[in-house]
Amino acid sequence: MGKQKKLEKKQFEEIDLIIGRLNIVQFYKLTEEEQEKLKKSCVNKVRHPDLQEAAKRIIHDYKHQKRTNTYYKCPQCGGYHLTKFKGSKKKREVLEGMIKATIKKDKN
Ligand SMILES: [Zn+2]
Repeated sequence: MGKQKKLEKKQFEEIDLIIGRLNIVQFYKLTEEEQEKLKKSCVNKVRHPDLQEAAKRIIHDYKHQKRTNTYYKCPQCGGYHLTKFKGSKKKREVLEGMIKATIKKDKN
């Protein structure tokens, strides 16, 4: 596939995601800057339909990639997205403790 074709394919996929998740009319009324922000915080992220699914993914990422993620409820699509945890060291330890406890519980 040529570079141009690839780019077009990516754009179509993005449009599909926007249509699937957001109000398309509202989206195109936003400024370019606002659209980019929305793409970063929603469209280009995996959407988890509920908290359970988001939690599963957080556990998975910690287990397999040693990544500490947290989630946020997305006001745009109503789902949940993950993001790298950026809080204090103490809060991180609490979060990692909960993740580890869940992993341990799952094993039994
Ligand atoms: Zn979203």
